[in-house]
Amino acid sequence: MNMKSGAAANQLPHYPPDVATRLRPGDPQPRRDGVKDDIKNLTLDELTAWLAARGEKPFRARQVFQWLYQHRAREFDEMTSVAKSLRNLLHEHFHVGFLQRKAALHSTDGSIKYMFGLADGREVETVLMPGPEHITLCVSTQVGCAMGCVFCMTARMGLVRNLSAGEIVQQVVEAYTDVEPGRFIRNIVFMGMGEPLHNYENVVKAIDTLCEDHGFGISARRITVSTSGLVPAIKRFIRDGVRANLAVSLNAVRDDLRTELMPVNRRWNVAALLDACRELPSESRIRLTFEYVLLKGVNDGPADARRLVKLLHGIKCKVNLIPYNPPPGLSFERPSPENVRRFQEILLGKGLLATVRISRGLDIQGACGQLITAQTPDAQH
Ligand code: SAH
Ligand code: SF4
Repeated sequence: MNMKSGAAANQLPHYPPDVATRLRPGDPQPRRDGVKDDIKNLTLDELTAWLAARGEKPFRARQVFQWLYQHRAREFDEMTSVAKSLRNLLHEHFHVGFLQRKAALHSTDGSIKYMFGLADGREVETVLMPGPEHITLCVSTQVGCAMGCVFCMTARMGLVRNLSAGEIVQQVVEAYTDVEPGRFIRNIVFMGMGEPLHNYENVVKAIDTLCEDHGFGISARRITVSTSGLVPAIKRFIRDGVRANLAVSLNAVRDDLRTELMPVNRRWNVAALLDACRELPSESRIRLTFEYVLLKGVNDGPADARRLVKLLHGIKCKVNLIPYNPPPGLSFERPSPENVRRFQEILLGKGLLATVRISRGLDIQGACGQLITAQTPDAQH
């Protein structure tokens, strides 16, 4: 243990030590709503194929997509340009999934944290961050998270279940309610509750719909998936050529400390993680960022900064420093602005592109690592 703060060390939560080694592809999946699937679980290609099997032309799928994501229709009957017979067919097989807005907390900095209710009574949080020029949305990918990082509130929930692709894109649909007409959500960050690469298929499907011109039409360059470092999934992400940027939460430069902070490091250590990142071809359009949460007296010293420079040597990337957001009940501390600047300057001085993330929504517990919802009992049982 390398933490200088005894208080922090004493307060490490009790997660099963092997949490990260027990991940299986079949971990809890979202439940289906009766027999009818949420149409938002389908990518455009899947809907096109489904319709083609019933003798419908591809443009019908594009029409339905526009209704779902551009007009944000909640019923098939709203899709007036779609033939009644087709609307009936869709209605027979699917429902239009939507989220229940349970709360919307407005921060003094303009960001809004939503708590959305899911069909099974669970809840997730989503944060809308309007800027003067661009709007960013931070979406969740799981109810809770299995990874057990000791500095993160979401970890305290454990993993309840994955979100479906439909539940991921519905967060964007619902957030649009607060976007002024004529403005658009430009950036999507998969940095809310959950480990996106632990829910790989659904995240990739959701990205498809986000990028689709007839869906949300968001540029792939504006989508970032953040991972705590699931090495096989990172390799798969690169191999599959997923249309999104990758942010890797490194957070420590030595294995002993990283293992203390992020149990996933026991399974895939720093070297294995960086080796996976090196598999990204230099000509790739995927942009790679390393996130580094700065914890006072734990990982924010000049020696840590210098070691970070060495580790990342030869990897085309940038570093995003995140001064720790103290969630209630966790006893790490945020470094002083001077220490943050000192750390950043060491990186910059060695030619490493390093930015400091400005935390949005701190006053509404909406910043990185502060998202947590109650373990609502299952409404359907
Ligand atoms: N599970 C993914 C994405 C969600 S967390 C991941 O871990 O990458 C998004 C970012 O918030 C990660 O970089 C994580 O290290 C950081 N984070 C978690 N808790 C934090 C806290 N209390 N203060 C600041 N950043 C935090
Ligand atoms: Fe999960 Fe990310 Fe929080 Fe770690 S930091 S517990 S991976 S949400």
